[in-house]
Amino acid sequence: MNYYNLKDKKETADFRTATIRGQGKDKGLFFPEHIPQFAPEWIESLHERSNEEIAFRCMEDFVGNEIPPDLLRTIVSETLSFEIPLKKISESIYSLELFHGPTLAFKDVGAGFMSRCLSYFLKDQDRTVTVLVATSGDTGGAVAHGFYRIPGIHVVILYPKNKVSKVQEKQLTTLGENITPLEVNGSFDDCQNLVKQAFADREISSGLFLTSANSINPARWLPQQIYYLLALKQWRATEQDLPVICVPSGNLGNICAGLLAYKRGLPAEHFIAACNANDSISRYLKTRQMVPHATEATLSNAMDVGNPSNFVRISELFNNRFEKLKDILSGYTVDDETTLRTIRKIYAEHDYLLDPHSAVAYAALEEYLAERPGKKGFILGTAHPVKFPEAIEKAIHTGTAIPESLKSLMDKEKKSLEIQPDFTELKRFLLNKINR
Ligand SMILES: *Cc1c(COP(=O)(O)O)cnc(C)c1O
Repeated sequence: MNYYNLKDKKETADFRTATIRGQGKDKGLFFPEHIPQFAPEWIESLHERSNEEIAFRCMEDFVGNEIPPDLLRTIVSETLSFEIPLKKISESIYSLELFHGPTLAFKDVGAGFMSRCLSYFLKDQDRTVTVLVATSGDTGGAVAHGFYRIPGIHVVILYPKNKVSKVQEKQLTTLGENITPLEVNGSFDDCQNLVKQAFADREISSGLFLTSANSINPARWLPQQIYYLLALKQWRATEQDLPVICVPSGNLGNICAGLLAYKRGLPAEHFIAACNANDSISRYLKTRQMVPHATEATLSNAMDVGNPSNFVRISELFNNRFEKLKDILSGYTVDDETTLRTIRKIYAEHDYLLDPHSAVAYAALEEYLAERPGKKGFILGTAHPVKFPEAIEKAIHTGTAIPESLKSLMDKEKKSLEIQPDFTELKRFLLNKINR
């Protein structure tokens, strides 16, 4: 499989090159040259197949010859080494719990797959690769965990000071070794801008081999299709009709992977992009206008993205035909107050604790289903509620039980370097690394 640059279709790359470089020239995103189809019989037989088998079949066409099949099997099986159950919450709503991985967020799957591919591709390189990533909360932890102690890879994470939860911060700042957290005295937008400037800087890129680990990287974006197949496998055990699939959305990588799976033949009734106040996709679906805006801080911080990168991939998937996209995708906006109310209500009525991101999705799906009696669906449960004790406490006025694994994490010492949102400071730090 080859990938073309959405900004210049003449530039193509195989899976290996696309993964190592992360993005094409002029910051263009890579997109698969064709959309491989699932055989209908295979889709019908999902319940007979193991998760590893499903994941392997899902990914093999995209990887092509770049990774030997046996190794790809090992990679997907290690990536999926935790359970991903579909739990029934209410009469019509289920949650695919994607938060039982090492950092309790769904990004563990994409980051785990990508880090394993990248370390295979780089094993014979004598240069160190620097993974430079900006995080609004969850990306940093998943990426840090995925690359921790991998030889030849150094990870530099920029996160906004005081804007990530305590658990998220500890996940970023307590590993040490090849993981360096930079605490930026600014917003997530500042972090992202600093990263973009670093990628564009000749002096930095001539000295450091830089790559990204956001969902713009195909190796992080594509494995997210697997969630939807694993959900369908379990859905069919109890439900006859097609599911409405609701995805808490920020940078739109996850929902774009779901729509890609749909284009390949995954059956679904409808998709919903559930947003917090950062809702450019919801507004686009109503007005046809994509108007990016400055990021607004909300309780579901991993979705605080004003200018979602993967929008261009969604458009491409539907050949830039708005009406076609609108037939299958709706957008909903859920404010913080509704998020808290939803957490409280679902805890009281169903004894199920949603994290703020999953709560945004729940509220959106509930609203959609209210107008369509008889239909049912599932949300993607993207984070464990214990990662967001501040928000949970606000919603239900008591704390939540903290698992043992988190307790020891919270006792570890935070080690990070504070910088101002000023490119010269980041540049000095990165160039120092070269000269060391
Ligand atoms: C990253 C993240 C999202 C948003 O996913 P996108 O692919 O960026 O749309 C939603 N929920 C949680 C918990 C996340 O970490």
